[in-house]
Amino acid sequence: MTTSAASVAVACPLCDQREASPWGRENGYSAVKCIGCGLVYVSPRPADDSISEATRTGQHRHEAGALSVVYAPSRRKLARYRARMRRVLAQELGQDPVSWLDIGAGFGELIEALRDVVPAGSRIRGIEPMAAKAAHARARGLPVTSESLAQVSDSFDFVSLINVFSHLPDPGAFLADIRRLVRPGGTLVLMTGNGAELDRAESYPDRLDLPDHLVFAGRPQLDAFLREAGFEPYARDLVRLDTPVWAAKALVKKLVGQPVPLVLPYRSRFRDMLYLARRVR
Ligand SMILES: [Zn+2]
Repeated sequence: MTTSAASVAVACPLCDQREASPWGRENGYSAVKCIGCGLVYVSPRPADDSISEATRTGQHRHEAGALSVVYAPSRRKLARYRARMRRVLAQELGQDPVSWLDIGAGFGELIEALRDVVPAGSRIRGIEPMAAKAAHARARGLPVTSESLAQVSDSFDFVSLINVFSHLPDPGAFLADIRRLVRPGGTLVLMTGNGAELDRAESYPDRLDLPDHLVFAGRPQLDAFLREAGFEPYARDLVRLDTPVWAAKALVKKLVGQPVPLVLPYRSRFRDMLYLARRVR
């Protein structure tokens, strides 16, 4: 959560319209739904100078305080990533090695999962702006560095943004900037929730994490962002989270006093979206 007192009202990051209707509130911030394009975004939001460089590159600021906690990769999470990537990339990967850059690599979870998915000889690397996380990943043998995106001059067959999108104050500009990192014809792999497809924040399956999360797209808005930035989406894998296990976890969180909505299984329109988009210009 920000400690800055300065907040500024902003126009829709997708269509620049200023008219919006209330959507959700959390931590003293409001998320509004653009009446023009349907994007959900935080406004007013922390001033640009307090949205750090780290956030622009996809850093989850609220995790900064958790760094003293020893991170242990969840085997279950790794297995889930591995299975989903294997399924979604089945048509993409042949025998030939590929190059892959993971932006906002965190503790290197995706990289670790991908090692068993991509062909032998592939080059995978990650960038994580928070040095302590990158060091943690390296200590486990995962190639994660903390250099800035501006320092990366290579281009890659695949570039991934896993749960980075919602942290971007200006997703369009960010996507246009990282296009150079995807080789022409290469693939952007983007994972985010479809929050903007929910009428109200009440049906969002977890905390909104305002204002660390600044933007919530749905399929129409994500398609528009990608096309404007020179990518053509060609595969959309949607996974629901509102399983009975999720509902039980939400109930437990509620019982220990966390401000999470209670969910009934298989009722929510929320989906975790995994997009594949080709660089087309
Ligand atoms: Zn809009």
